[in-house]
Amino acid sequence: MSNTVIYRARMIRTMNPANPTGSAIAVRDGKVLGVGTVDELAAWGEHTIEDKFADKVLMPGFVESHCHAMSGGMWTYPYVGFFDRRSPEGKLWRGCGKIDEVVDRVAELNEQMNADDIPEDQPLIAWGVDPLYFAGERMYRQHLDRVSTTRPIFLHHASGHLATVNTAMLDAAGIGADTPTPGIPLGEDGVPNGELQEPAAMQLAGSAFAKLMSEMGSPDSLWRYAFEARNCGVTTVTDLGGAALTEQRLSGWEQVTADPAFPLRAMLAVSPEFTGATDHGDLADQVADKVADSADKLHFGIIKLVLDGSIQGFTARLNWPQYMNPPEDAAENGIWLMPPDQMAEIVTEYHRRGLTVHCHCNGDQATEVFVDAVEAALENHPRFDTRHTVQHCQLTTKAQYRKMAALGMCANIFSNHIWYWGDQHREFTVGPERARGMDACATALREGVSFSIHSDSPVTPMGHLHTAWCAVNRITPDGDVLGVHERISVHDAMYACTIGGAHQIKMDHLIGSLEAGKLADFAVLEDDPYEVDPVELKNIKVWGTVVGGVAYQSTAD
Ligand SMILES: [Zn+2]
Repeated sequence: MSNTVIYRARMIRTMNPANPTGSAIAVRDGKVLGVGTVDELAAWGEHTIEDKFADKVLMPGFVESHCHAMSGGMWTYPYVGFFDRRSPEGKLWRGCGKIDEVVDRVAELNEQMNADDIPEDQPLIAWGVDPLYFAGERMYRQHLDRVSTTRPIFLHHASGHLATVNTAMLDAAGIGADTPTPGIPLGEDGVPNGELQEPAAMQLAGSAFAKLMSEMGSPDSLWRYAFEARNCGVTTVTDLGGAALTEQRLSGWEQVTADPAFPLRAMLAVSPEFTGATDHGDLADQVADKVADSADKLHFGIIKLVLDGSIQGFTARLNWPQYMNPPEDAAENGIWLMPPDQMAEIVTEYHRRGLTVHCHCNGDQATEVFVDAVEAALENHPRFDTRHTVQHCQLTTKAQYRKMAALGMCANIFSNHIWYWGDQHREFTVGPERARGMDACATALREGVSFSIHSDSPVTPMGHLHTAWCAVNRITPDGDVLGVHERISVHDAMYACTIGGAHQIKMDHLIGSLEAGKLADFAVLEDDPYEVDPVELKNIKVWGTVVGGVAYQSTAD
């Protein structure tokens, strides 16, 4: 009995340039047998015809090559972000448009904790807050002290690089004016103002931060991550959180991906920061060993490094003229999260063992350090087709893109920033000219750099139709078109979300297009991205996904 299924569809967009469209796709043993017409595919012999997608549009499953497993775990906690956001279960959380609305929601949560008799020493944790939207007003411990002076409160910011805590949290953690850890700005009164910048400072809020982080690898949170992906047509993610080799995270992933009902493939990046590794060579050996263990839904081979912070948090490293309008308490030109003068040596350790290095670089100064480090690694240990990738690439210059092309590097561009922070970048962080040139997909294309675009979920919501809409339209909440000349076509955006993503994680031989021999991973859409008005791209409904020939329907309405 053959297990061949031929799916009829309204339209199939394959991303295979030699066979770009079809009206039917045949699947056998979880793989694509071919794309064409039903009559053509029937020649493969015994089969069943499936009409459930007859009025849908099929594309290769989207490849979200920069997001974090914590995207699922975050939903263990309440959301207090600026924009409306939908949970993996499909519930819509309304955004908090003002600091007072954040404070009000936190107060409600505190009342609920009190009503539930949760002891006062248990922290209140919420996530997604972003003070940059509050018209220049910053959020300090005093705002949260209005909610409680006894229960520690920890608000994790949308950027993932910052937290705001109340005085009870500072006291419980023993954080004071003389705490030597960088990233603890003081208020005018000489006391920490409640902001904790970057992981080293956030870790001091031990009880809350450790609790938050401990949820992130649980099987429950990984299932939520997979549901979030399924709801937006994503069939493969790269978890760039980097904690993949910690015992808890690895066993969580092994458990969920062994379940045939798990609707997601994952490339797990490993970061020295989260493994406690002091020797980069040892870690490189460990990861190189894991590559051989890669399974159907679980893949290894990427090292994640983080060079600087975020532009909107004023912690990214920028070349001259640096920040336009930074707050007074911001660090001078951001923070290095790794020593720039050791990057060549560090990158070389991973590069020479055949691994691919993906390095978080928001600012152009960070990109420069990483690109130079890759150049040094290549000079000492020539290797072809490394695909070392600049992650975020927000201010990468044309000269840097040209050099990346020459070195065989890839870019993963944070297009969602144009919508979520575009107005702030124009007004506060880098000014109009550089904001128009941020997240420069058209430049990457012109200079011949293979690229993808990403959400960095949970920093912004996962969803490639929205991310593609950002890259194609570059519209900001103020209604500005921020950088007309960096807009790209719908096809180029769709390519970036599929083959572009698969290429930079070295899975393009398996996924990223619908063609004979590849895995049967589809995004099932209600409309054709190539047919709708490009400003409507983000509104296309997603039915769900097919992963390895198995259909998974979205729960979002
Ligand atoms: Zn990230």
